Amino acid sequence: MSLTDIRHWVFDMDGTLTVAVHDFAAIREALGIPPEHDILTHLAALPADVAAAKHAWLLEHERDLAVASRPAVGAVELVRELAGRGCRLGILTRNARELAHITLEAIGIADCFAAADVLGRDEAPPKPHPGGLLKLAQAWEVPTSSMVMVGDYRFDLDCGRAAGTHTVLVNLPDNPWPELTDWHAADCRALSRLLG
Ligand SMILES: [Mg+2]
Repeated sequence: MSLTDIRHWVFDMDGTLTVAVHDFAAIREALGIPPEHDILTHLAALPADVAAAKHAWLLEHERDLAVASRPAVGAVELVRELAGRGCRLGILTRNARELAHITLEAIGIADCFAAADVLGRDEAPPKPHPGGLLKLAQAWEVPTSSMVMVGDYRFDLDCGRAAGTHTVLVNLPDNPWPELTDWHAADCRALSRLLG
């Protein structure tokens, strides 16, 4: 299958459509999370009241980042091109849905995504769990094998593999995970060129 034939596209948001701005080390330090721990997994294991307070802090911190979001190279053009071709577009992010909307507005492509097709950490289990992609496949009534997951990190690729979608890695000059990747592009501009 060629990328041009794929009509159902799911994007990671942070670092894929936007320039990565999360300072995860600083977030871990502020929340008292050990450096090697996954932030969302760590919070999920805490007592409910402690977890709620830390989630609230995280949401505020991320809201500030969302408002100031900047698009990644070629991301706006790629999304507009796909939307113009009539492709169905979704977002699967470990960020919160509300913040995803703010981010997409900030970079000027919110109109390219149906609100229900933007899945955040409260709408789907966090990647690499395939649940979010399976949910979109069901909503769109297509097999996962006709979809592609685009991301900048191993979780995005693992998630795609687990769900049975195609995978694209962007925004890394070299590909550390070739066995998980169907297409690799240096950035979204290069990915647009693969569309022909
Ligand atoms: Mg990312």
